[in-house]
Formats: sequence, structure tokens, C-alpha cells
Amino acid sequence: MAKCDQCGNDYDKSFEIVQGSQRKTFDSFECAIEAMAPRCAHCNCRVIGHGVEEGGKTYCCTHCARHASH
Ligand SMILES: [Zn+2]
Ligand SMILES: [Zn+2]
Repeated sequence: MAKCDQCGNDYDKSFEIVQGSQRKTFDSFECAIEAMAPRCAHCNCRVIGHGVEEGGKTYCCTHCARHASH
């Protein structure tokens, strides 16, 4: 059992995500996404897929990446 780093819920099915040197505990993917997923540099939505990286920024899709570079 471990407490979620995002919402503080103590849950017996919590899990850990390691990203670089960070190790975080979550009770749900929703909390993991809120805490760790990057935001699209154009429309500000959560990037939970592969996303698109362009010019050092992360976008949710090629549409946003294209739009932002104009
Ligand atoms: Zn949580
Ligand atoms: Zn976007």
C-alpha cells in the first residue's frame, strides 16, 4: 500500500512510475497523467500519447506543431 503523490489517496493497488531520476507513486492513471504528462505548447491539452516534438517543445499532434510554427 502506498499513497498517491498527486491526490494523497492511500490505495492498495497504487503503482510507481519512474521518469529519469523521479520516482512517483499514483493510485490511478488519471493522477499520473495530471502529475507527469506534458502539455501541448499550442492548445495546452495533456499529451498522453507519443505527442510531437518540434523545436524543443511538445505538441499533442502535428496540427498543433504546424500551427505554432507559423
Ligand atoms: Zn491519486
Ligand atoms: Zn495541441
